[in-house]
Formats: sequence, C-alpha cells, structure tokens
Amino acid sequence: MDTLSTLKCPTCYYQAIELMPTDRIVDSYQCKGCGTVLRAKPGQDCVFCSYGDVPCPPVQARRTSSAEQGTCCGACGG
Ligand SMILES: [Zn+2]
Repeated sequence: MDTLSTLKCPTCYYQAIELMPTDRIVDSYQCKGCGTVLRAKPGQDCVFCSYGDVPCPPVQARRTSSAEQGTCCGACGG
C-alpha cells in the first residue's frame, strides 16, 4: 500500500509529498505554498483523492478487498 502522495495545489500549483494516515480520512489540507486550505471535492472523501496522485489508504484497502472477494463468496475466507 502506498502511503505517500504528491498533493498538487490547484491555486498555486505547489506540490508537496505528504504521508497519508492509514486510519483516518483527511478532508482538509493547508497548502505549504500559498496557505490555501484545500477541501475534498464534492463526492470525494479526502484531499488525497481530490488533489493527490495516489488514492488514500482506506480507498486502496477497499479496492483490494473487493478484488479479493471477487474470487469467492467472501464469507468462507477462501
Ligand atoms: Zn497553494
């Protein structure tokens, strides 16, 4: 799982590599370039999904688990 994401500010285009927490959603982030507080876009949970180049860990986990469940019923563990 990737926990580093490059966040690009839509206002000043400053890019910062940030560590994404794996246990929570980050819904706001202050740009280190211009100070603008970025908020997740409508329909998205977090700023990394909206402005980063890597989806946030909870989203990655959701994708991985759904792919694994596709091989079986999901209840038998196999
Ligand atoms: Zn900025």
